[in-house]
Amino acid sequence: MPSEKTKLEKTKSESIPPETVTPETSDTDDTSPATTNATASVDIASPQATGSQRGRFVPARASAEIERQLAAALAPGLYLVATPIGNLADITVRALSVLARADVIYCEDTRHSRTLVAHYGIGTRLEAYHEHNGARERPRILARLAGGERVALISDAGTPLVSDPGYKLVREAIDAGHRVESLPGPSAIMAGLTSSGLPTDAFLFAGFLPVRSAGRRSRAAELANVPATLVFYEAPSRIAASLADLAAALGDRPAAVARELTKRFETFLRGPLPALAAEFASAPEPKGEFVILVGPPLTTEVTDAAIEAALVIALETMTVRDAAKSVADALNAPKSRVYDLAVALRRSEDGDGGGYGDL
Ligand code: SAM
Repeated sequence: MPSEKTKLEKTKSESIPPETVTPETSDTDDTSPATTNATASVDIASPQATGSQRGRFVPARASAEIERQLAAALAPGLYLVATPIGNLADITVRALSVLARADVIYCEDTRHSRTLVAHYGIGTRLEAYHEHNGARERPRILARLAGGERVALISDAGTPLVSDPGYKLVREAIDAGHRVESLPGPSAIMAGLTSSGLPTDAFLFAGFLPVRSAGRRSRAAELANVPATLVFYEAPSRIAASLADLAAALGDRPAAVARELTKRFETFLRGPLPALAAEFASAPEPKGEFVILVGPPLTTEVTDAAIEAALVIALETMTVRDAAKSVADALNAPKSRVYDLAVALRRSEDGDGGGYGDL
């Protein structure tokens, strides 16, 4: 458990209606099958629906937009379509209209994706594309594209290619000169990052950590000086061990664990990394899907290499003294250290033979 001094902040989302939770995580303890209740009350033919009352939603407008999109021609090409990460309502109008108009939808698991397309009444054929059949399927997909077909690619959840299949297909489609378009939408990275309370101005998505502890620690050490919020995906079976290794390698940084984003039991745990590690270490193996987020280094230790890189540019136009001051200010590094590096650089530039005129 966290120490008494350490305050962990837990939040649960109460606002997500259970009927919109996808059954994709039926192996977890808190999801239920989707229903179509959410749309049952929408009557686009009613006079009220076609009126323009301020502050009221006019479903006919949304419906008309879908109709407009559906009526437009879809150019041949490969469409990368983001789909919900839990809440079936998290899908764009454009995503629906592309999935409906495509000649074929490639997905990781046809049974899984059938839930989504059935929910929205989309009859487009589903075909499997995953890591085990990718090498065999890619030439077929490229042949379809060459034949002028409209091919959509989705994954089980979120944005395809983000820790999901599709990179090689996109690479080969681009190389073959085909149109490749992305339809942005849900991703656990963005949902986790934006509600974590951690800095969002710079972030680094590092995918899944290695499965062994030594690998995790060395990966964390590689990322230790990155001046950005770090975002990791993690499986429930490894969340406790990963948090422990991250805490060992990165220390007392602010962090967050997002669980079951957009689903009925969405939960956030926010606090110092060691406290989060302690919380998970003392609990039974959790269920659900997780994103780990770790804030940037508390004090940025600037490396000599970074200082020298800045000095090389500054020394092109400034004296050693001015360059050292300017770089020290810019990088918030100790002036004497920067000055010593500037002197050494200038000496090496001058072949160690003097040239101290501007010191
Ligand atoms: N392509 C997906 C995306 O754009 O987010 C990610 C696919 S990756 C194979 C699956 C991992 O994403 C999960 O193990 C978990 O770490 C994270 N994830 C996906 N959905 C999530 C959710 N609803 N809540 C928390 N994490 C989620």
